[in-house]
Amino acid sequence: TRPLVCLRPLFRTYATAANPHALVFLEHRDGAIDSASLSALSAAQKLGGEITGLIVGSSDEVKQLIPIAQKLQGLTALLHSSSPQYATPLPELVSPLLEKILSEGTPFTHVVSAHSSSAKSILPRVAARLDVPAVSDITSVEHDTSSNSTTFTRPIYAGNAIATVRAPSSVHLKFFTVRSTAFKAAPAGSSEVEAKAIDPVQVADPPTEHIKTELTKSDRPELGAASRVVSGGRALKNAETFNSTLEPLADILGAAIGASRAAVDAGYADNSLQVGQTGKVVAPELYMALGISGAIQHLAGMKDSKLIVAVNKDPDAPIFQIADVGLVADLYEVVPELVKKLNSQ
Ligand code: FAD
Repeated sequence: TRPLVCLRPLFRTYATAANPHALVFLEHRDGAIDSASLSALSAAQKLGGEITGLIVGSSDEVKQLIPIAQKLQGLTALLHSSSPQYATPLPELVSPLLEKILSEGTPFTHVVSAHSSSAKSILPRVAARLDVPAVSDITSVEHDTSSNSTTFTRPIYAGNAIATVRAPSSVHLKFFTVRSTAFKAAPAGSSEVEAKAIDPVQVADPPTEHIKTELTKSDRPELGAASRVVSGGRALKNAETFNSTLEPLADILGAAIGASRAAVDAGYADNSLQVGQTGKVVAPELYMALGISGAIQHLAGMKDSKLIVAVNKDPDAPIFQIADVGLVADLYEVVPELVKKLNSQ
């Protein structure tokens, strides 16, 4: 079903019709712009207007990122703001800056970001403060300049239906977050756009404080961005067999490792590896589901993968309904044999 939902107000209305000008919030880590933000930039290009990037961080981070961001294909300008407060971009600290940029007289018509944990908190917060609509986790976007309306599609019910949502023409500013698997990451271009500094908005008495960030360290590709993913389910029995079975295959394929929620809940795999409705959404070139039944909540996180390979002992396992290649077999026989064959090539 494709229900058409019109976000008609409740919202304050404005009688302006302008060429689109998107402000794209560019998140970063370790001196690189997140690939999910680069996908958000590609989505912003679908609006067909100008695009200004926004980088927020500590002064060292911002200094390092400006020359990288200036060359991004699709950007027409770059704003940056640095402060020690932005070293850990808590929503309570970044939102006032965004609100200032978007207040009275702003040239922007759309605010765009990846559907990341931090943007999921920042964008709706600012949209609510400005009394304008926010649409989350979009997979397509179209803008009609003559009517000033923007139409999005977004998966609902764990991806079992696609809603078409229109932000009304009467609203001058529209926020949306982007499902990164639906758009290619914007590449670096050849030209360099102008960069302009924006004064930070200091929050005198922040309501929250960043204590620490604990990141899972891995030499493998990042699950959300990997082109190949080898995932294991409850059939992997325990953490030891999970690792000893999947790692050799992932190593030889240069793949990230994923897991079903059953495997995560049972302690076989780390939380950060969960794929699905309440885990990560992935769409790699190759997704291997090993000993995973294919519950709808798991499919919600991987069904857009280009090639799905499933190994399951049960011929009636639902995963076979979406698999491109299915093998009814015992994974403990198949996986070592596959590793052996790949090694001998
Ligand atoms: P099972 O369903 O138990 O399947 C194990 C499979 O292994 C079976 O099909 C079996 O035939 C096969 N098998 C057993 N032994 C072998 C062998 N030796 N060789 C080959 N095959 C074998 N799940 C997610 O994955 N991600 C989510 O984000 C998620 N979010 C959820 C959110 C909600 C609100 C709810 C209610 C559930 C969610 N779930 C999620 C859970 C989901 O419903 C399933 O319970 C879960 O995906 C099952 O994991 P599984 O396939 O590993 O286990």
